[in-house]
Amino acid sequence: MKIIMLGAPGAGKGTQAKMIADKFGIPHISTGDIFRANIKEGTELGKKAKEYMDQGALVPDELTCDLVVDRIKQDDCSKGYILDGFPRTIPQAECLTKALADMDDKIDYAINVDVPDENIVRRMSGRRACVGCGATYHIVYNPTKTEGICDRCGKELILRDDDKPETVQKRLTVYHEQTQPLIDYYKEKGALAEVDGTQDMQDVFNGIVKILEG
Ligand code: ADP
Ligand code: ADP
Ligand code: ZN
Repeated sequence: MKIIMLGAPGAGKGTQAKMIADKFGIPHISTGDIFRANIKEGTELGKKAKEYMDQGALVPDELTCDLVVDRIKQDDCSKGYILDGFPRTIPQAECLTKALADMDDKIDYAINVDVPDENIVRRMSGRRACVGCGATYHIVYNPTKTEGICDRCGKELILRDDDKPETVQKRLTVYHEQTQPLIDYYKEKGALAEVDGTQDMQDVFNGIVKILEG
């Protein structure tokens, strides 16, 4: 089962992708997490990516696409995977479609988690991210058992630099210009499924499971 999560920044893609990956036993591949890990390790890729991420801009397609194509060719992806935060532009989607076609393969589901802009800023300002495993929480909607500590791995939680309201606004603009067109792209391929992302987390999850289990 090859799945893509579509949706605005803060729509709940990461939250749902982790739950789906756990349920179906497939890897969760988040380009945002990969970039943040590279920043932490101080790699060349991390240095380049950070310049764009801090501005709320997208990392250039040529730094992103090969990374994902290499990742999905690894052994643990043979049964499927869930891509979270990729593709984010039409050229990235085309790159993925082509790489998959070369392996006689395709994406089964592109799940669009639909949340209006008004809700996004509220979600982002309360979002806390784990420095260890990348899990995200919300101070009101999805608090951890112990304040400031990850339920999954026990590491510390932070407010991401790019979750400040100014940067969130920029990221939303970028989303509407560059990522939203992917909804039609996957609709035309017959892979699109939509879920109302304003419901509570468990209901969104149940909706997605229903789609995936047919
Ligand atoms: P969110 O979960 O809030 O949508 P991500 O963690 O997916 O944010 O991404 C954080 C930042 O990393 C993005 O704002 C962008 O700068 C960069 N990024 C992540 N994925 C991609 C991608 N597929 N293409 C370009 N930039 C990306
Ligand atoms: P994305 O990966 O799309 O950027 P996240 O999964 O990180 O989004 O979620 C953004 C924020 O909203 C997090 O703080 C998360 O805990 C919270 N959140 C996720 N899903 C819901 C939901 N259905 N209702 C309320 N808050 C949610
Ligand atoms: Zn953690």
